[in-house]
Amino acid sequence: MVPGSAKKRGLGPVKCNTCGHEAKFRHMYSYKVFDEVEVSDEWDDPKFHWAYECVKCVQISGMHQTEAAAWNWILERQGNAKSKKRRVDNFNAAKDVIRNTFDAMDVSQNGRSLYQLTRMSVKTVFSGIVDLIDLKRRSLELLSSTLKTHEVLREEMRHTSNIERIKEIVDFISSANEKDHPMLAFTNKSTGETDWAKWKASTYHDEYVKTKNGYLRYWFICMAGGSINTCLTAITSKMWDRKYKDPGATRNKWKCTVCRANYRTKWGVFVEISIGKQIYCLRATIPDDDTLDIKAMDIERNLKEGSTPQDLYDAIPVFAPTTTQYIETRDAAKGQYRLINKDSYLALPEWKWAEVLQMGSEEVAK
Ligand SMILES: [Zn+2]
Ligand SMILES: [Zn+2]
Repeated sequence: MVPGSAKKRGLGPVKCNTCGHEAKFRHMYSYKVFDEVEVSDEWDDPKFHWAYECVKCVQISGMHQTEAAAWNWILERQGNAKSKKRRVDNFNAAKDVIRNTFDAMDVSQNGRSLYQLTRMSVKTVFSGIVDLIDLKRRSLELLSSTLKTHEVLREEMRHTSNIERIKEIVDFISSANEKDHPMLAFTNKSTGETDWAKWKASTYHDEYVKTKNGYLRYWFICMAGGSINTCLTAITSKMWDRKYKDPGATRNKWKCTVCRANYRTKWGVFVEISIGKQIYCLRATIPDDDTLDIKAMDIERNLKEGSTPQDLYDAIPVFAPTTTQYIETRDAAKGQYRLINKDSYLALPEWKWAEVLQMGSEEVAK
């Protein structure tokens, strides 16, 4: 499951909500207008529509001195510009901080203690997908250099009064902003289009990676109910009640089967790493799309030709968390588990998904 994932919208010509001027979607600043506050359906779908502002109006409302400055402001915020920047920042942060040890709670029958996992031992768990991590890293390097090029062009735009050159730069960057940086899994080699139904179906796993040396698994946690009666239920990925049964649905939503709350991405996931015979517990934010894409590539290469999204989904195995001082079984048939103590859960060391990118074949160069 992939809560909080980006949604798509149309790209035709649109009208400025302020002055009525019509222009290409990509030449407008777009923003959400929420129609009904506090009114929501069972799935808590926000009701909003998109509104647009043309460059002239942005210049006035933002008090930008020049039109080029207004364009700069728009280009930074439109389409996928922000999410691409977030992905690159995430990647660069992982390159900058290379940890040689990872904090983890070592859990055994007798108790638990803070343990330092070495990078080399964690790497053994990822040894089966090293090539896929390398592919993802190269793709993010490419995105990173594309964004650097855009920054240079925007800087040039700030200092030129040549209208033709400004137009050229705006067209170049805005059409790049319109495009998604492609996912690598389930992508048609000739068109470059991602098969989203398969990609989404591939995200219903509890086990991110497994080799003979160990595994990394994670479960989404329900933290609804406020600070006193927090639900604390962990549910296997396929067993959350979802809005659309179709595992390939692109705008799905998930509900806790114990308290009926809609899943919120800020609640994060419980992580279990096994190395050798040992179990280590951590927690993490929900995995980002690039992290999921690496797993999706792994699923894709093991998939039989002609498989449907449903076949792919059906083939993904389900895993229960190991019963430890952190988690117990609530109802295994319903895929429900329960964190034993909220405070000890929140005190767990954090696993950072971007660090998966450090598990490739070579050290990440700065
Ligand atoms: Zn306008
Ligand atoms: Zn719940």
